[in-house]
Amino acid sequence: MSNRIQPVRGMNDVLPGEIGAWQHLERVARAVFGAYGYEELRVPLLEHTELFSRSIGEYTDIVEKEMYTFQDLGGDSLTLRPEATAGIARAAISNGMLRGARHKLWCLGPMFRHERPQKGRYRQFHQFDLEALGFAGPDVDIELIALTARMWQMLKLTRVRLMINSLGTPQARAVYREELQRYFAAHDAELDADSRRRLGGNPLRILDSKQPSMRALIERAPRLTDYLDPESQAHFAALCGGLDALGVAYEVNPRLVRGLDYYSRTVFEWVTDALGSQDAVCSGGRYDGLIAQLGGEPTPAIGFAMGVERVVDLLSQAGSVPPAAAPEIYIVVNGERAEREALRLAERLRDALPGRGVLLNLGGGNFKAQFRRADRSGARLALILGDEELERGVVAVKPLRREDGQIDCPLSELPARIASLL
Ligand code: ATP
Ligand code: MG
Repeated sequence: MSNRIQPVRGMNDVLPGEIGAWQHLERVARAVFGAYGYEELRVPLLEHTELFSRSIGEYTDIVEKEMYTFQDLGGDSLTLRPEATAGIARAAISNGMLRGARHKLWCLGPMFRHERPQKGRYRQFHQFDLEALGFAGPDVDIELIALTARMWQMLKLTRVRLMINSLGTPQARAVYREELQRYFAAHDAELDADSRRRLGGNPLRILDSKQPSMRALIERAPRLTDYLDPESQAHFAALCGGLDALGVAYEVNPRLVRGLDYYSRTVFEWVTDALGSQDAVCSGGRYDGLIAQLGGEPTPAIGFAMGVERVVDLLSQAGSVPPAAAPEIYIVVNGERAEREALRLAERLRDALPGRGVLLNLGGGNFKAQFRRADRSGARLALILGDEELERGVVAVKPLRREDGQIDCPLSELPARIASLL
């Protein structure tokens, strides 16, 4: 038997060969979020279990069966966050940030859900989360969705499409909910086990079922759109009009209810046909009641979460990841004195050329081996420092990506000469 420790199922390492796509996505996201006035905040990975059960809703996949919940040494029930909105809302309340104030916030980090691991579905995965707190919309709803559309444009991703819907107010939804309950109860025999359990608790969840056998029944169910209150109808019409005016294409999907309980009015989801069955890449909506429900002052809010792994997959598939930056300089060393001097030379170059990659050959090796490493590093210039060069006060400079010959350069002039060669 192997005594090797296995990784936890569904939790992945992101290796240097894959990190380029992550960093590209993170750079673009930071730039876009910043351009729309969103500020980064960081909230803990662990929260009291009650935060999630009270906000996400008892009859949801997440709370019913996906949470990593445990008792800590002090006896508290804690949960690894399955999503970020609840924690951000909690943070806004705990830190007294609301009191009529408005905040545009974003956050990036791992989420944890005990799901069946498969391509695009992991137990630790990452999300970008954007939340606009204190904005009643619909202007902010439109702007938030335009921001996501801009992300795809900046990332050169085209195989995504937008679905929107309105869930109305909780009052309007209550009427619809009864209607839906009546409908599904009348078709009790066709319900799967999950749906039957949800029938009493929250029949809206049934619409979110991924069970193929449920599809036809769900298709014929009453539509929430027909039960919307007049204000929500106006809100939704303004949303559609705003997206039209900005040229953001969308589809109204009356079955889009989202898997969490705290949504009201606007909900949206970006889906792709490029990732198989894990097709949701960015999902969000308005949650006007959540903050009050968690004990804060009533504060309208809207937000979304974007699945980083799925977007990274899209980027790799589309081939739209810019190549990683190679180092600029590789220092080849020959001789004992030169080895000591080379460390100082490398530091001098790093002082003079901040941000440029300066690799020093470490661990010795003959010329041939060192040049092979220099080549593989992708560096544009090799600097050759040997005892003999040191004696003459020079370094040999050899371009690696051009046919130009090697030249000697006085040590004292080195940083300036190199800067001109790069
Ligand atoms: P799905 O329908 O795929 O289960 P969801 O409705 O549970 O998604 P949300 O809770 O809205 O997803 O999370 C927002 C985004 O996070 C999703 O659109 C998806 O891109 C990503 N995501 C959700 N669960 C996972 C997971 N287990 N592994 C990887 N990404 C995920
Ligand atoms: Mg899910």
